[in-house]
Amino acid sequence: MPKRLTDLERYHRSIPEKHLQEQILDAARMFGWLAFHHHDSRRQVTGRGGEKIWVGDKDAKGFPDVCMVHPKHSIAFIEVKREQGRLEPEQVEWLDALIGAGIPAVVMRPSTWTEIMGFVKGGFPEVGELLGFR
Ligand SMILES: [Mg+2]
Repeated sequence: MPKRLTDLERYHRSIPEKHLQEQILDAARMFGWLAFHHHDSRRQVTGRGGEKIWVGDKDAKGFPDVCMVHPKHSIAFIEVKREQGRLEPEQVEWLDALIGAGIPAVVMRPSTWTEIMGFVKGGFPEVGELLGFR
């Protein structure tokens, strides 16, 4: 029998990635980070005739969603995922490379909101186990 979800688990699963990303960017900017969303290889725009045009950078496939820089907390990269979203191999490759280079790179999900706020307020020393993304 499938596990019955709690109200909180259902709530976390209902939050779209884009919404969480906007919340992270807003919170980061409020606490003094310069932060931006990097448009990845999937970005499309609508042409004048209503057609979809790919404008994303294919070389950026898997690159983390958010880059943040803070005068005290250095730099950090964030892959934002909906609660049940899975990391693509290219995303794991980028996170591995960044972490291997000593750069904080984390995965943030709706259920990690408390840790997200700790990170945004205090920088990477408070991010704890979020630094491990597997
Ligand atoms: Mg993402």
